[in-house]
Amino acid sequence: MPLNPNQTHTILNTLGHFPNKKLGQNFLIDGNIVRKSIELAAISKNEAIVEIGPGLGTLSKAILATGAQLFAVEKDVTLANYLEKTLSKESKNFHLLNEDCLKKPLGSLLDQEQSSGFKIVANLPYAVATPWLESVLSQSLPKRMVLMLQKEAADRYNALPKTKNFGAISIFLQSAYQIHSTHSVSASCFHPKPKVDSTLIRLDLKEDAVCFSKEIRTFIRTIFTQRRKQIASLCKKNDSETIHQWLETLLKKGYSKSVRAEEIDLSSWQLLGY
Ligand code: SAM
Repeated sequence: MPLNPNQTHTILNTLGHFPNKKLGQNFLIDGNIVRKSIELAAISKNEAIVEIGPGLGTLSKAILATGAQLFAVEKDVTLANYLEKTLSKESKNFHLLNEDCLKKPLGSLLDQEQSSGFKIVANLPYAVATPWLESVLSQSLPKRMVLMLQKEAADRYNALPKTKNFGAISIFLQSAYQIHSTHSVSASCFHPKPKVDSTLIRLDLKEDAVCFSKEIRTFIRTIFTQRRKQIASLCKKNDSETIHQWLETLLKKGYSKSVRAEEIDLSSWQLLGY
């Protein structure tokens, strides 16, 4: 059973722990959302699951109840110690790392042999969701992700070209993943209530997933930080032959030299990938 509001308060009081805003500590206190996350993840026995920020272990317990091997990474020392004393003792399938997910985006999973075909299920710390996701996309790709996110971030991930939200992360994510479902989640499902809107999304790895090298990701990110500049001048400043050829292809496709980054369609961006 997920922790209810009273149990959450009691554990926090016992630990003498105040939810840390900087670490995005808004704990899930709604059983339906925990169940929905598990249902969307469709976990099989012994499947490897990565969880970012297990917190007090509400979602973790539900993941472990499916028989999964859970690789969790929690930055907060107090919460990690609490989990070591509780969940780690209760289940040998719980593999916790007290680390920053930006340094270890998949916890200790990659140290294991079973690092292919895994999934990620997480109520993410909103402040680091996008850089963390970019790191995941540059490593080993999970076959499914079920993520609780700030709605604003989910809107950027899902954005289409020619809209203000379309940016580098929209390209990276949509090139590798199909966004299957999005559910609005009320602030009352968390303690304390976040001041931003939340969304639960399910992402499935595409069979023809396109990835981008580190250099190309840096180039695309830079382009979107200079949205007002014309694509031709941005490409010409770059030394890479691949980028010069890409510009030629864009021009052959009928784009003008003055086209802006957000006007270029996804398939044209994917020509830079592999
Ligand atoms: N999973 C718990 C739940 O659903 O109740 C807690 C989710 S809470 C939104 C985010 C969690 O991520 C917190 O436990 C927080 O300490 C942890 N966290 C924040 N920044 C982190 C980071 N950079 N690396 C790993 N964990 C982080």
